[in-house]
Amino acid sequence: MGKVLIIGAGGVGTVVAHKIAQLPEVFTEVMIASRTIEKCDAIVKAIGRKDIKTAKVDADNVPELVQLFNSFRPDLVVNVALPYQDLTIMEACLQTGTHYLDTANYEPKDEAKFEYSWQWALQDRFEKAGLTAILGCGFDPGVTNVYTAYAAKHHFDEIHYLDIVDANAGNHGKAFATNFNPEINIREVTQKGKYWENGKWVVTEPHEIHQPLNYPEIGPKESYVIYHEELESLVKNFPTLKRARFWMTFGQEYLTHLRVIQNIGMARIDTIMYKGVEIVPIQFLKEVLPNPGDLGENYTGWTSIGCRIKGIKDGKEKTYYVYNNCSHEAAYKETGTQAVSYTTGVPAMIGAKMFMEGKWKKPGVWNVEQLDPDPFMKDLNQYGLPWVELHDVDLEF
Ligand code: NDP
Repeated sequence: MGKVLIIGAGGVGTVVAHKIAQLPEVFTEVMIASRTIEKCDAIVKAIGRKDIKTAKVDADNVPELVQLFNSFRPDLVVNVALPYQDLTIMEACLQTGTHYLDTANYEPKDEAKFEYSWQWALQDRFEKAGLTAILGCGFDPGVTNVYTAYAAKHHFDEIHYLDIVDANAGNHGKAFATNFNPEINIREVTQKGKYWENGKWVVTEPHEIHQPLNYPEIGPKESYVIYHEELESLVKNFPTLKRARFWMTFGQEYLTHLRVIQNIGMARIDTIMYKGVEIVPIQFLKEVLPNPGDLGENYTGWTSIGCRIKGIKDGKEKTYYVYNNCSHEAAYKETGTQAVSYTTGVPAMIGAKMFMEGKWKKPGVWNVEQLDPDPFMKDLNQYGLPWVELHDVDLEF
């Protein structure tokens, strides 16, 4: 059906490559490109398919990307590098007539702020070029947006309250580690909290709002309201929402480490001089923390991510909870990575498959809730992230 170029060879890239390699009838040719080619080669070796190509590319550099796209001529680029590279990769797609998919919205390096405005601004250019750009196709954002679209399509006339709940009830055995890129992760969880209520954003201190929530087959876990990027597109695309929040679980030990990291200045994103060399403290910290891609081996337990929704159906109030539980051990057995990389990489592969099959092919720039949720939901069950629906249950809010 088509040629795919995966950019990024970290934890998520590893999963995307494994899953894409399992479907040669959909992805007829595959290339993995990243800053460090050895990491791409190691993924190909683990998959065991010699026909998968690899390349070295600096995805901050548009001419370098254009040259690579023109030589491999992919139909679709799956961007699982870092959010900093979204705009350069999209620009190279526009210059070469290539379709685009990512899992995280653009974030400038010098400001810990992520939002869709920069990518949404490319809507006209993608549409005029007849190119599809699919934004935020991991788990959250990604599956959580599809869950919401599926609920709105099949179970509600109007959705009013949305609470996205994300628990990692796993244990990696380290005192402190992040489950995806440490720089991006620490920037995300140390910012102020923010949620949507009655037509406006409410800002809180970091981790100010919290309560225990019960996660299926896991039990109660302290959960904290943080700002997460899918809220921005969901409140725009589902204007009936009166409130939309995102909850994530954190252990006390993790929060204590985070506080210390911030207090001693290691979360700083500005440049400082160290012995005559410019360094950014958070980037230095990343180098000494465990690599998220290597956590899988001893990881036990589960992740549980879902949407708890309240709204109206046939004039009556209705509640609905749809979720997936994913085992760290099973993810590691299949792909050599932990469940956080797995739950991100599988939806990216399914989004790419939706594109190749023409189900999500539509010129313009789209968040995934703007595309048909049904074939995607079907594939989640088939490719490793089965979901469970609960109707008319206590949502605990
Ligand atoms: P990693 O840090 O493990 O991997 C990132 C990869 O991108 C590395 O291979 C890195 O290369 C490569 N890279 C970084 N900069 C460049 C560059 N300038 N040019 C080429 N390659 C580059 O991150 P993860 O795999 O954990 O995360 C990947 C993406 O997935 C991130 O954008 C993250 O925000 C997103 N994500 C989305 C989630 C969701 O549910 N939607 C959840 C988790 C993550 P090198 O190895 O040389 O450093």
